[in-house]
Amino acid sequence: MNPHGNYQPFHDVLNGYDARPPYMQNIGMSLGPYFLVERLNQNRAKISPVIMGGAVPCEFAAHCREISDSEHSSAYSHPSLCPDGGECAGSNDDVHCKFFVHRKMCPKGGECTVNDEHHIIKFDHPEHCHAGGRCNDMEKSHLQQFRHVPLCPDGMDCRAYLNHDKHHRDQYRHCEKRCIFEGNCVRFHDKNHVTKEPHPFVPPCPFTPFSCKFHIKYTQINPKIDRSAEYTQAETHCLHYSHVCGWGRLCTDTSEKHSRTAIHIARQMCPDDDRCRRLNNEEHLAAFTHTNVRDIRLTCRCYASACKDRFDADHE
Ligand SMILES: [Zn+2]
Ligand SMILES: [Zn+2]
Ligand SMILES: [Zn+2]
Ligand SMILES: [Zn+2]
Ligand SMILES: [Zn+2]
Ligand SMILES: [Zn+2]
Ligand SMILES: [Zn+2]
Ligand SMILES: [Zn+2]
Repeated sequence: MNPHGNYQPFHDVLNGYDARPPYMQNIGMSLGPYFLVERLNQNRAKISPVIMGGAVPCEFAAHCREISDSEHSSAYSHPSLCPDGGECAGSNDDVHCKFFVHRKMCPKGGECTVNDEHHIIKFDHPEHCHAGGRCNDMEKSHLQQFRHVPLCPDGMDCRAYLNHDKHHRDQYRHCEKRCIFEGNCVRFHDKNHVTKEPHPFVPPCPFTPFSCKFHIKYTQINPKIDRSAEYTQAETHCLHYSHVCGWGRLCTDTSEKHSRTAIHIARQMCPDDDRCRRLNNEEHLAAFTHTNVRDIRLTCRCYASACKDRFDADHE
């Protein structure tokens, strides 16, 4: 069977091998002679011994689709979760993939609040943020990357927090309450609201949406053609202050820069939408959103009423 003897193949693999504990201990993982069954809190977990020849091995092994079904998984045994978790480098290795379960990352990442057992067995979740209750980073990317203890409902005014109650401070985070409407908040001109509850956008320009001349320039000049000082000035203004995005709910720009400098106000869609016959009615356009028509249209260079193209649908 072994052309190099029974000793050599083991020696090749195991001599000098540096085994480290898994970087994250997840439910369904075998840790030494035990399976991690349930996590009760940070320091306590429920385990069960790995018993050879206990339940019949499932013929689909790690590829089984019913692994999160409790009836099926108590009748058949399945391999351990890959100890490398999301950092596994063996995803191209067929044998490795059959002998270790690899779970998909939960689409909500660290922001997931589902405590349901099925969900936890089905998806991988990131580690808890090491700062625990002391973490006050509310950046979306950080919240995605790590799990966090819940935000205290009393926020920064919490009595226990102000009294330095250590136990409470470990259990809850105390951060400035962010506006729940985030980048879609209609109260962007309410100074008190904007300073009290942070928003993802930089301070709003007092002239947005209709009368900021810099923003009009910034959205209408093509920077590839016109690189004038005028454009640079408008650009500087529009990067320092946020403006209402003309595309509103139909906006497709998901860049970091745009979400920092634009406010998106969702309006009602026109019930007739692309079959709408009132596309040249200013009042109607001002009240409803239409596919392919900006909520806030670019200002026509000629006077609106004199412009001969105003009945042309492509004209903005
Ligand atoms: Zn199975
Ligand atoms: Zn793996
Ligand atoms: Zn989840
Ligand atoms: Zn954190
Ligand atoms: Zn509190
Ligand atoms: Zn708000
Ligand atoms: Zn402005
Ligand atoms: Zn936009």
